[in-house]
Amino acid sequence: MLSCKEVVKKTSDYIDGNLTTKERFEIWLHALWCYKCRRFIKYFRSVFSREMIFDTEMLDEASADKIVEKVTSESSASQAQKKQ
Ligand SMILES: [Zn+2]
Repeated sequence: MLSCKEVVKKTSDYIDGNLTTKERFEIWLHALWCYKCRRFIKYFRSVFSREMIFDTEMLDEASADKIVEKVTSESSASQAQKKQ
């Protein structure tokens, strides 16, 4: 099973269609149970379709961490709001 970090790193290729069927299946499978990555892929896709230029080298280890952090904090923040 892929980790969230691996999914984030592969998302641009996933959207570009540069992955093998197996890799795409792994991401799809992960996104099926992982709300964070589902959200991230959706977000990434919307940004990507808006700005057609996206340098995949931007997605280094550090920025992948930041994105995961951002998406995680956003989703936990919205969960916290629901509880109140
Ligand atoms: Zn995930």
